[in-house]
Amino acid sequence: MSLVLVLGDQLSPALSALRAADRQSDRVVMAEVASETGYVPHHPKKIALVLAAMRKFAARLRAEGWTVDYTRLDDPENSGSIPGELLRRAADSGEARVLATRPGEWRLIAALEEAPLDVTLLPDDRFIASLAEFDAWAEGRKQLRMEYFYREMRRKSGLLMEGDQPAGGRWNYDSENRKPARDDLFAPRPLWFDPDPVVAEVLDLVEARFGANFGQLRPFGYATDETQARQVLEHFITRALPMFGDYQDAMLSGNRFLYHSLLSPCLNLGLLDPLEVCRRAEAAWKAGQAPLNAVEGFIRQILGWREYVRGLYFREGPDYATRNGLGHERALPPLYWGAPTRMNCLSHAVAQTGEEAYAHHIQRLMVTGNFALLAGIDPAQVHEWYLSVYIDAFEWVEAPNTVGMSQFADGGLIASKPYVSSGAYIDRMSDYCGGCGYDVKVKAGQGACPFNLLYWDFLARHRDRFAGNPRMGQMYRTWDRMEEVHRKAVRAGAAEFLEQLDAGVPV
Ligand code: FAD
Ligand code: SF4
Repeated sequence: MSLVLVLGDQLSPALSALRAADRQSDRVVMAEVASETGYVPHHPKKIALVLAAMRKFAARLRAEGWTVDYTRLDDPENSGSIPGELLRRAADSGEARVLATRPGEWRLIAALEEAPLDVTLLPDDRFIASLAEFDAWAEGRKQLRMEYFYREMRRKSGLLMEGDQPAGGRWNYDSENRKPARDDLFAPRPLWFDPDPVVAEVLDLVEARFGANFGQLRPFGYATDETQARQVLEHFITRALPMFGDYQDAMLSGNRFLYHSLLSPCLNLGLLDPLEVCRRAEAAWKAGQAPLNAVEGFIRQILGWREYVRGLYFREGPDYATRNGLGHERALPPLYWGAPTRMNCLSHAVAQTGEEAYAHHIQRLMVTGNFALLAGIDPAQVHEWYLSVYIDAFEWVEAPNTVGMSQFADGGLIASKPYVSSGAYIDRMSDYCGGCGYDVKVKAGQGACPFNLLYWDFLARHRDRFAGNPRMGQMYRTWDRMEEVHRKAVRAGAAEFLEQLDAGVPV
């Protein structure tokens, strides 16, 4: 007899630990514990999602003949941690052997390895690439660029391939996927699920325990089981995928989701299989239901980015999330937790994050992430914020995106240059600037958009680090061509802005 650990983001019937176990004699252990609900101040919607999905998955396993020892958060004997619950169940059953699928973060892996139990950690094979495959690809390369890994994955999976050539003759259609959105575009509403009794009970529990965390718990409509997750997928494929490519980078204040899939929580919890999702999108293209630029763009996010960041997180080791390659030390300002700001783009992104526990990629990268990088905020605090506030945030995927892609704190491992922009990019891709307390057209002095000031200030501050980067030379040449008096005004404006930020003055 063994104990079979199933964690809150391992809700897949084909999980390696379940495959290795014996349904007749082994006991599944699932536990809602304080160490997991509290290692960062998670958004209440995220806690509700995980607990509700766990409870439903446990019920499914029982219906399929498994014995499940399930600990609820408010059980009086709850020891408060995953190893603690395993030890308690081991003492009850007299069995110290544990089968587990490797957790998705170093913190939990260490906790399991250190527990006085006989734990067998099996690979998590719910990904398209194994960690060994990623390592084999990465070995000996000077640069680990996602694009090349993605091409390997296309070849390996056969997705969007015509023989050994990419469908349509190109690997990547990103250049067609940068259209700003018009606010009169027809856009589908994301699929919404009214709380069933399991979800309703969890919502009450989360409200009582985590009501003070940042973010609004209600209304809650996320998918919490495989059936609902499949409905989200079908809804996306038929209603949104055809436009996904064109408007992938667009931001609209009146439409928070545009043509994005909202599939990340379903994928990250294990309710959907990534390869199956990619194949479904490919089938839509083959059936003429969605254009190649949309389908390739969508598949690249999952087959490319999602697999790549996971490989990198595990390859780089437990210290990855603490890296601070640019030596940034400013404290995360209260505006990230909802304090008022005149910057309309940030105000929108943060308010939406509070209400939905969701922001799409460009809001995360080019609004909240861009500002944090330009302002020189401590990447560890930025990392903790992203890990806390998003419905899909699990460290293996969040840390590379935040620490690496967004904050350039891994020294350029993921990004070949920092993702920074002035206000012009946000103005082009969104309708935020119209309603802002600052003027995006003003580059220095009274009313200047802070992104305009901080962008050049960032480049000037980090000149030694970036001037030699071939992709950034043009920016430095532009800066150098500006009048000396203008450059001084920009830097003085940035310094004044950052002083106010540090002093807690609403900016
Ligand atoms: P869509 O735009 O519909 O994309 C489809 C799918 O592709 C997503 O569901 C997701 O599974 C995958 N995907 C897209 N981009 C990425 C990426 N860069 N890395 C990995 N997978 C990707 N994603 C998370 O799943 N969890 C996180 O905690 C997370 N934190 C992020 C933090 C920052 C600073 C940034 C810039 C990005 C982060 N991402 C994270 C990646 C991306 O923003 C989200 O996956 C995406 O916004 C989820 O929404 P969606 O399902 O509507 O995505
Ligand atoms: Fe953001 Fe600047 Fe535009 Fe205001 S003007 S919304 S601060 S980019």
